[in-house]
Amino acid sequence: MQKIGEDTADNIICRIKGKHDFKIVVGAHYDRIGGGYGVADNWSGIVLISRLIAEFKLIKPEATWEIIAFGAEESAVLGSKAYVRDNNTDGILAMINVDTLGMGSVRIDSRSDTHLKCIAKDLANRIGIKMSSASLPGTTGDWEPFKRQGVSVLNIHSLDRRSMRKVHTRKDSARAISDDGMQDAWLFLFNLSLYLDHKSGLVIEMSNPGI
Ligand SMILES: [Zn+2]
Repeated sequence: MQKIGEDTADNIICRIKGKHDFKIVVGAHYDRIGGGYGVADNWSGIVLISRLIAEFKLIKPEATWEIIAFGAEESAVLGSKAYVRDNNTDGILAMINVDTLGMGSVRIDSRSDTHLKCIAKDLANRIGIKMSSASLPGTTGDWEPFKRQGVSVLNIHSLDRRSMRKVHTRKDSARAISDDGMQDAWLFLFNLSLYLDHKSGLVIEMSNPGI
């Protein structure tokens, strides 16, 4: 648990200790805004990261994983700002942001780290998932405070121009998402996480020839 401020919900941090101290952070915000139920934005993200926690608890990962439910994202990303304020971000290998999935195919925010975008594209091809890049002008997210600190970020969503009009309105209900969209999002997130964990183990061991 991490306090953001007096009048906001806290960040809920689940830390899964790996073989190494290097961290990979996965985040999804759990606050909601507008007249809808927030099913896409961001019940979808919370469901996906909860499932990821359950899977990672079964293995001993290479990196130390922090899977975080951020509060107050819809209030100028206060939750993720508080995280980077109170934690040293130097040892974070990557930050994956999971926000508004299931409305269509998986999309990668074009403001994400170039190398992570390449990995994501390659992985989506290999596991047979439709994925595209999309810019979301004028928007922010919990990835942004991490990027400002120099952390490599990957922002995963499912927004296009049409679905953009549904978020933060009454149309963000159960009907806004689909089973297929959520299933693809899960396969993508799970495989990406396993891949990054494996890869981080190799990178760490190469830079520590003593191991
Ligand atoms: Zn959101």
